[in-house]
Amino acid sequence: MTERKRGPWTPVRLPERGQRFYPGGGEELVSTDPTTGEPVAVLETTSVTGVEQLVERARAASRDPVWRNDAATRGRTLYRYAESLRDQLEPLAELLTREQGKTIGEARSEVLGAADMVEFYAGAARTLYGRAQALGEHAHGVVLREPVGVVGVITPWNWPLTLLVRALAPALAAGNACVVKPASLTAAVTVRALAPLAELLPPGVLGCAIGSGSSIGDALVGNPEVDMIAFTGESSTGVDVLHRAGGDLRKVSLELGGKSPNLVFADAPMDKAVDGALNACFTTTGQICTAGSRLLVEAGAYDEFLDRLARRTEHLVLGDPLLPTTGIGPVVSPGQQRDIESYIELGAREGKILASAALPGDDGLARGAFVSPTLVGELPSDSKLLHQEIFGPVLTVQAFEEEQQGIALAEDSEFGLAAGIWTTDLDCAWRVGRAVSAGTVWINTYHHFYPEAEVGGFRKSGIGRQQGLEGIHEFTETKHLNFDSRPTLW
Ligand code: NAD
Repeated sequence: MTERKRGPWTPVRLPERGQRFYPGGGEELVSTDPTTGEPVAVLETTSVTGVEQLVERARAASRDPVWRNDAATRGRTLYRYAESLRDQLEPLAELLTREQGKTIGEARSEVLGAADMVEFYAGAARTLYGRAQALGEHAHGVVLREPVGVVGVITPWNWPLTLLVRALAPALAAGNACVVKPASLTAAVTVRALAPLAELLPPGVLGCAIGSGSSIGDALVGNPEVDMIAFTGESSTGVDVLHRAGGDLRKVSLELGGKSPNLVFADAPMDKAVDGALNACFTTTGQICTAGSRLLVEAGAYDEFLDRLARRTEHLVLGDPLLPTTGIGPVVSPGQQRDIESYIELGAREGKILASAALPGDDGLARGAFVSPTLVGELPSDSKLLHQEIFGPVLTVQAFEEEQQGIALAEDSEFGLAAGIWTTDLDCAWRVGRAVSAGTVWINTYHHFYPEAEVGGFRKSGIGRQQGLEGIHEFTETKHLNFDSRPTLW
C-alpha cells in the first residue's frame, strides 16, 4: 500500500461575503473530489432571476464609454490579473486537483498557462487597430473594431481555467462585459479564480452564474440582451446553443468535441513518438478535447511501436493526483467513469485489448473514479470506439500501408479539431499536414499550445477560432464610418 500524504480539507463555501459578481441564494451545489468522493466545496446556485440581473448589470457596464474606449486601462487591468493568478498558484492548483482530479503538476501548468493567456490578451488589447482608407476624391472611410457588447462565456470542466480565460480575456480586452457560466463540476475553482478579477474591474463588467446547463446555461443563452455566446463543450450541446442564440441571429463561437488522429510514420523519431502517443491520449486522463485518441501507425513500424507503447501503458502510475509521483489521476466523476468503462467493454467485445495500466493499489482510493488507460486494436471500421468522442483514456490503434491510406483513415471522422504527424520527412509532414482537416496539426510533438496561435475546429469540432489575434477579433464587430465632403449628395 502506498503512503498517502493528502492533507485534511475543509470544504470551501461560496459565495464569500461581499462577492457581488456571483449572486447565490439558490439551492446548494456540492462539488466532490473524484479521488476520494469527499466534498470539496459547497456553493449556492444562482437563480434564473439572478442571471437576468447579471446580464442587466453587464449591459449597463458594456455601454460605459470609458470601458469601451480605454484599451490601455483594460490591458493594465488584465496584466494585474495575470499577476494575481500567479500569486495564487498553489491554492488554485490544489483546489483544481481536488475538484477536477488532474495531477497537481498539470494543475500548476494550467494556472500558469491561464496567467500566460491573460497576459497575451493584456497586450493584444492595444492592437485592435482600425484602418483608414481613401475611397475617392471626396470620400474616405475609417474601419473600426468595436466590442460586441455582452458576452456569455460557457465553459466545460476539463481545463476550467485555461478554457475560461481563453474566451474571457480576449472578450474583456476588446471592451465587452461578460457573464460566465462554468461547469458545475468545477464551479468552485472557477469562482475562486474569478474573484480577484472582479475586484479589479468596474462593477458589472464581470458576472458569474452557477447552476446546471439546462437551467442557468439555458437562461444565459436564451437572454436576448446577451449579444454573443462563447461556448466550449460537447458538440451536441453546442448545436443546442447555436439553435437558441443563433436562431435570433446573435453571435456564437463554438469550441467543441474531437476524435483526433495521431499518425506515426515508419521514419518517425521513435522515442519521442512513443512519449507523444501517450501524452496525446492520456493527458488529463484522456479528458481533453484535442486528445490524439486514434493512433495510426505505418505498417513497417507497427509491431515495434505497439510493443513499446504497450509496455509504457502498463507502467503508467495511477493514484492520488496530489502526490507528485502520480502520473494519471481519476476521471472527473463516477458517471464519466461508467461511460468510459462501457466503451472499454465494447472494445473488448468488438476488438482486442492490447494493453492497460493497473488501477491504484491503495485502499484509500477505492471510491476514486479511476479508469485504466487502455489500448484497443483490431476494431471493425464502423466501431463506435473509432468514431465517437470517449473523453477518457482509451486509445484505438490502427495500421496503414502507405501515406494515402493513412490520410484516408485520419479523415474518416466527423470531427476536425487536431492531428499529430510523426515523421522525419519534411515533404511528408507538409503533404499530410495540408491534407488533414484539423484546426491544429502538430508535427513531431503534441499538445503544445501557445496563446499567440489560433485553435478551433473544422466540421463538428466548432465554429470560429480562439487564441491568437483572431481570438480577440471574434469578440468585436467591424464598423465602417464613411465620410463624404461633396457639397451635394451626387
Ligand atoms: P457539456 O457540453 O456537457 O457542458 C459544457 C458547458 O455547457 C457546461 O458549463 C454546461 O453546464 C453547459 N451546458 C449544458 N447544457 C447547456 C444548455 N442547454 N445551454 C447552455 N449551457 C449548457 O461539456 P462538458 O462535459 O462540460 O465538457 C466536455 C466536452 O467539452 C467534450 O466534448 C470536449 O471535447 C469539449 N471540449 C472542447 C474544447 C475545445 O476547445 N474544442 C475544449 C474542452 C472541452
